[in-house]
Amino acid sequence: MKRIVHVLAIILAVAVAVPAIAKGETKMAVFGTTPDGVSVPIYTLTSGQIEVRVTAYGAHLVSVRAPDRAGKMADVVLGYDSLAGYLADNKTYLGGIVGRYGNRIAGGKFTLDGKTYQIPTNDGPNALHGGPKGFNQYVWKSEEIPGGVEFTLVSPDGDMGFPGTLTAKVRYTLKGDTLRIDYTATTDKPTVVNLTNHAYYNLHGDDQGNILDLKMELNADRFTPVDKTLIPTGELAPVAGTPLNFTKPEVIGARIGDDYPQLKIAGGYDHNWVVNGKPGTLRTAAIVTDPVSGRKLTVETTEPGVQFYSGNFLNGAFTGRHGVKYEKHAGFCLETQHFPDSPNHPDFPTTTLNPGQTMHSTTTLTFGVVK
Ligand code: BGC
Repeated sequence: MKRIVHVLAIILAVAVAVPAIAKGETKMAVFGTTPDGVSVPIYTLTSGQIEVRVTAYGAHLVSVRAPDRAGKMADVVLGYDSLAGYLADNKTYLGGIVGRYGNRIAGGKFTLDGKTYQIPTNDGPNALHGGPKGFNQYVWKSEEIPGGVEFTLVSPDGDMGFPGTLTAKVRYTLKGDTLRIDYTATTDKPTVVNLTNHAYYNLHGDDQGNILDLKMELNADRFTPVDKTLIPTGELAPVAGTPLNFTKPEVIGARIGDDYPQLKIAGGYDHNWVVNGKPGTLRTAAIVTDPVSGRKLTVETTEPGVQFYSGNFLNGAFTGRHGVKYEKHAGFCLETQHFPDSPNHPDFPTTTLNPGQTMHSTTTLTFGVVK
């Protein structure tokens, strides 16, 4: 008996000593309540040393905590500590899922099967991230799944002018140091769809200045040049010989101020790179490292493109976690996607989705360290 008690005591002691974070689990809490009284959940996913928080409001990625080379944890994704922060910000798309059409549609207009559709414009002459009320501004349904959460949004026929009832699902699952995002969509009428996550990363930590000294490598030999309203001209141009060449690791800020028309138009980097390799297969899109902390982010995707946006339009208007005003270049985005304005570029990989088809794409974010 004494021996059994002793063994039980040891088991208990070990169980208590193992920190919650090592278990690999999902926990739900209430993030806040919308003005119309909807209670919004937030989920904490933990695995190994990584802790991720996602909320049903806009299916936002709220935070990712990751260790540096000495094991020191920091938040590496910009975000707000409360639902109120997200409700008040319909400008920056901080960590939100953008849709029904991520990035721009020229004039908010496109033609499908001979019929022209008009999305309300919200970015100069163009529609950006699905129009004035995009998927990032809805409370999604949520369901816990093994290793994470699945969010579902049903966008009705005619929502923001888009045809067809679209059922979009976004799954966040965490395994080891990899956060995997799976996107699926189905429709009951032909429509267009382009879903991505709009997280801003700062590998120094979300309250540690700007991202200009981080090093980035993009697996892309070409990009889609843009006109002065950031709509692709249709060309797939080589990056070789331009400040958009990241085929070898380069410091993000080294050439950002170059007198190069594409950079002047966007006030920095805000372009779609054509990811090398076959769309539909998971391949590396980007690797970013922080020489100071040693943190490393690897992005893999099945998407044909990635929008590298260097936070050019952040202007201190919004105050995030830890009371930090998000100024220009406080974070960078790597939005894995189909190319901007694809509905008006028949040569680009198609974003048309027909009834009976399922759009499926996967992006993985791996948070490691370098020596
Ligand atoms: C776009 C930027 C835009 C930003 C909004 C990015 O995806 O490429 O031009 O300003 O989203 O936060």
